[in-house]
Amino acid sequence: MSLPDLSEISLQDYAPPIGKKSDLAYHAVKRAIILRYYPPETQILEQTLAAELNCSQSTIREALLNLSKDGLVERRGYYGTVVTDTSLAEATVMVNVRLTIERAVAAAIATNGTRPDEKRLTTLLDQMDQAHEVGDLYLGCELDRAFHSELAHVAGMGLLSPILQRCALHIHRFTLGSVEVPRDFFQESGIGKEHRGLLETLCSGSRVQAEEAIMQHIAYVLQRWSPSLYQSVGAETFGATNSQPIALEGVL
Ligand SMILES: [Zn+2]
Repeated sequence: MSLPDLSEISLQDYAPPIGKKSDLAYHAVKRAIILRYYPPETQILEQTLAAELNCSQSTIREALLNLSKDGLVERRGYYGTVVTDTSLAEATVMVNVRLTIERAVAAAIATNGTRPDEKRLTTLLDQMDQAHEVGDLYLGCELDRAFHSELAHVAGMGLLSPILQRCALHIHRFTLGSVEVPRDFFQESGIGKEHRGLLETLCSGSRVQAEEAIMQHIAYVLQRWSPSLYQSVGAETFGATNSQPIALEGVL
């Protein structure tokens, strides 16, 4: 089953149910960009968007400013605000950067000796279960990035978190925006379950197993959603000995 025809869905449908007006506008537009309701090069008009989301132009301006910090839109002078694109070349580099950071994070957690304070991680895992239940792909991706960012914090590598977030965001946009293997994301085993398993392995005390687990975690989603990106990064980068897919249970 493929993604729905986004052209028939109002932007209002992309707004989260709760939050401040500026957050609401930010997430509504971000969701539309990530799920390609707004494809690259789409021109975003503040006035039109303000009318559509029933909020002030200054609220929209604040949301667009934050989206430009994410690299999802670009301010082009008099031409206005335009949705950017994530190229295969950029996504490939971002996967490599992400792997470098996440391997170091996994190794640090595994060799730390003590189990990290899991309160925030547990909350995120519970929220993932809820996102899975309601089939909210966008929310699932938001929670995935928050989870990996939190891992960097518990590993004592919080300074790398913004870099990790940036890379993961654009990898998500790339894979979701060019779904090469039609599938229903939420037919999979569930992101909460998958990340619980990952956390267990990271905390098992084995550095080798922790590093393998994080690499396979990232390899798995690329293989299933964007084989061209997986190929571009190269199977060997993930520790695979050949180009055969790594067999794993899970998602994201
Ligand atoms: Zn993940």
